[in-house]
Amino acid sequence: MTDSLDALDRLPLRDDLRGRSPYGAPMIDVPYTLNVNENTHPMPPEVVEAITEAVREAATGLNRYPDRDFRELRAALAEYLGQGLTEENLWAANGSNEILQQILQVFGGPGRRVLSFMPTYSMYPLLALGTNTEFVPGERSADYSLDAALAAEQVRRHRPAVTILCSPNNPTGTALGLDVIEAVYEAASEFDGVVVVDEAYAEFARDPEDTALTLLTGRERLIVSRTMSKAFALAGARVGYFAAAPAVVDAVTLVRLPYHLSAITQAAALAALRHREGLLANVEDIRRQRDRIVARLTELGLEPASSDSNFVFFGGVRDSRGLWEDLLADGVLIRDVGIAGRLRVTAGTEAEVSAFLASLEAHLENRR
Ligand code: PMP
Repeated sequence: MTDSLDALDRLPLRDDLRGRSPYGAPMIDVPYTLNVNENTHPMPPEVVEAITEAVREAATGLNRYPDRDFRELRAALAEYLGQGLTEENLWAANGSNEILQQILQVFGGPGRRVLSFMPTYSMYPLLALGTNTEFVPGERSADYSLDAALAAEQVRRHRPAVTILCSPNNPTGTALGLDVIEAVYEAASEFDGVVVVDEAYAEFARDPEDTALTLLTGRERLIVSRTMSKAFALAGARVGYFAAAPAVVDAVTLVRLPYHLSAITQAAALAALRHREGLLANVEDIRRQRDRIVARLTELGLEPASSDSNFVFFGGVRDSRGLWEDLLADGVLIRDVGIAGRLRVTAGTEAEVSAFLASLEAHLENRR
């Protein structure tokens, strides 16, 4: 590793990339992987069948480039979201990470800022770095909430080209009121700022109807980002998407790579959307497991944040790194997001959550 780091140093890297670390959630093979907020419920066999069949069919045409504008997939995504959206409002990419990257490529860039509110999804600063956009780390209240006045004031102060609101927020799990999104959009409208609401975890919200999609009409610089990686259990297929005004879709076509969404990805995503009932059936159980974690952690005297997502962020631990290591030794991998005294755990299946709670209870006294 030292050798390869020296070799890296010798390369003519961009100055702003020197000494920076890549996205690095540990990938460790353990019995209970609860660290990257995947949907850990097994894929229903009929969905596996349907995806296999769709991919087999797509394979016969792999000598040709795929549909560059993937209209069928965009129409299917629009139909899933409802709200009167059509394929003209939809765009997709390889995960919502690529969606966010494309948005920053179009609306960020040198001399422009992107504002988000810390702590939040660790990829935002990295996407800013990669697109040469200045990242501005905005503030939340001490309990990680963000109200309309606090958010709008920071937008007016920093005048970012792009503001990213993550709701429900990773790593805290907290959802934003629609009044916050409205206030941020209004403040950003004073200088034509773009507002992105990252709703990667929207389907797990206690009130999934409470989505920024309902605010799109009449707001031409509002973008709502979603993913099939979480509720749809399709993290491995890499499908993210956004809904916005058709002009925003036209704008990202300026920076997307031609044929960025492979025929196999398109086929798998379409098959998953056709079988969404089977996939989304697990969402209710995941919500139950999340609420179970929050209830038990509270009983244990820990401090779980209120969660509208498929994970729980909790405090009240003295030695969070030590506890993370104890759990790992028991085969339970959760996430240390680098905030002292706090850890994040994904709400998995009933058995996974039981294993997590048993390990936690065994080690907690030594670490609090
Ligand atoms: N946004 C948030 C808030 C996330 O937590 C994640 C994944 N952890 C993503 C976007 C990216 O997900 P994907 O690229 O798989 O769609």
